[in-house]
Amino acid sequence: MKQDEINYPITFVVFDMEWNQPIPYMPSPVDPKILPGEIIEIGAVKLTLQSSTEYSMSEPFLITVKPQYYKIMNRQVSRVINKDTNDLRWGVSFPEAYDFFMKWCGEDFVLCAWGDSDISILKSNLKIHGLSAEVNDRFLDIQPLFGRVAENTAQQRSVAYAVDFYRIPQTDDFHSADKDAYYEAKILKETLTDYFAIREKADGKEKGEQPQLKHYISNPNLNTQKKWRSEICATEKEAINLSLKEEMLCPICQMKLSANLDWFSSGHTWMSLWFCQEHGQLTGKIRAKKTPQQAFYGMGQLRFVNGNAARYVQEKWQERNCKNEQNVKLPEYEINDGNNVNNCEHS
Ligand SMILES: [Zn+2]
Repeated sequence: MKQDEINYPITFVVFDMEWNQPIPYMPSPVDPKILPGEIIEIGAVKLTLQSSTEYSMSEPFLITVKPQYYKIMNRQVSRVINKDTNDLRWGVSFPEAYDFFMKWCGEDFVLCAWGDSDISILKSNLKIHGLSAEVNDRFLDIQPLFGRVAENTAQQRSVAYAVDFYRIPQTDDFHSADKDAYYEAKILKETLTDYFAIREKADGKEKGEQPQLKHYISNPNLNTQKKWRSEICATEKEAINLSLKEEMLCPICQMKLSANLDWFSSGHTWMSLWFCQEHGQLTGKIRAKKTPQQAFYGMGQLRFVNGNAARYVQEKWQERNCKNEQNVKLPEYEINDGNNVNNCEHS
């Protein structure tokens, strides 16, 4: 019997990067919004599965990148990764480093990282160097997969937490790109082992409710989110109300979305849950921001999410109704463990 929908052999390239950030009190050579972090190290480890039980791990890949914009070490970053400004004088240029990295990756692999920040930093670095920001079209975020498989939680755990959880022997400190990638690959291996065990245990009927790996693999080249900003308003309330008027359209197909859970407030954040027939579930989030002139504007974000993130919004909705002693029944809708975007072609 087929245990899962994986075509073997399959290679996971687990990558991790370190990046420097601008110095807050100094004029930045580029807009920090365009380049929130400049990559100074790329590390990676390949995990190849011949079957659900046979696997191999590569030696770690590591390359040091000489920054072109943020050449002075940010103190906060320095504390975490233990490097100083002197260390930033060495290394190859980013385009060269990325080329090396891509050649090392080879063909036909699933790119993996812990959380989604590495991939967004990678894209911003590609763009600023005039390179195509299209990356590998299969990306696995290990963090939510670990949450679902290991603990059935939507909580975002740290790499250190997961290393402890699986009792992975810790021989090195965290926060050098190759070592972090090594630990993340070890975690992925353990998570996949648990994943196969869960799926093997479930009988045919239950299988649909079990986590599915493919739901955690997405195409990072699709525009899967939308952000909007309201005009400046005198009060927070006005800014929120203005933001709530935004029409909710699917970021991929522009079709009108149906509301699974319409906008509600949870503390200072407004949340919602949406659905596109074609592309799956999304969450909406609105927050008011203050300008230096003490006025307000609303910032909205709509993005495709996996089941964990959708369940989180649902929990907040229930919490709020519980607090207000409103006995409102949860509307009927289904939560997809992953989202359909994961499976659609880049168009
Ligand atoms: Zn759509």
